[in-house]
Amino acid sequence: MEQRHEGIGMTSRRTRDRLINRLKEAGIADERVLDAITGVPRHLFVDEALGSRAYEDTALPIGHGQTISQPYMVAKMTELLIAEGMPDRVLEIGTGSGYQAAVLDALGIEVYSVERIEPLLRQARKRLWDLGYRRCHLKQATDVVGWPEKGPYVAIIVTAGAEELPEPLYDQLTLDGRMVVPVGRGGEQDLFLVRKTASGPETQTLERVRFVPLIVKES
Ligand code: SAH
Repeated sequence: MEQRHEGIGMTSRRTRDRLINRLKEAGIADERVLDAITGVPRHLFVDEALGSRAYEDTALPIGHGQTISQPYMVAKMTELLIAEGMPDRVLEIGTGSGYQAAVLDALGIEVYSVERIEPLLRQARKRLWDLGYRRCHLKQATDVVGWPEKGPYVAIIVTAGAEELPEPLYDQLTLDGRMVVPVGRGGEQDLFLVRKTASGPETQTLERVRFVPLIVKES
């Protein structure tokens, strides 16, 4: 493994360190998250042609009109999810490249991740397997948002922008479970941290964000 990537190894180390510094400057403080991001080779989650930009703090296209999230966003959402204790399992909506799932796996979390677009799902599954991320369990999305059969979950991460708080996902949380989800219209969202309580959702609004849309089938 080390041998095979030796050619870009030096650059990778330096550019990866630069990314970590940039995340720290942007306010990411959880060392567990920074370590996980240091360890996951983001250049292997994008097209080879984009590899040289993989350690910039930007979202990048992954085909089918979708994007791999900006590293800052991955770090921020992950930090929020584990802030009150490491969840043993997490549900992710929107596998995309598989990068966010790999970061969660690197933290020791069992990841249940669903993706709508079959070719992305297939590619992510192979990639995660080849890289040894064995805690990632992937499934093609159905008309029911999420993966209720494996729930309920103490933590849910939605990596696509919802127009409103997705009820079916809220239902898949345990009592006191938490969900990080971008919510808003017009291509921009507020990042919400939602807690399920006995008296209903408790929502904290964090920052303005920009995600590709969460597709929810209206019946
Ligand atoms: N987490 C990804 C980024 C995903 S981009 C990564 O780390 O690369 C958002 C993804 O959500 C897209 O791939 C899109 O196809 C998917 N998506 C949108 N609506 C969905 C739904 N209802 N269920 C599952 N996946 C969905």
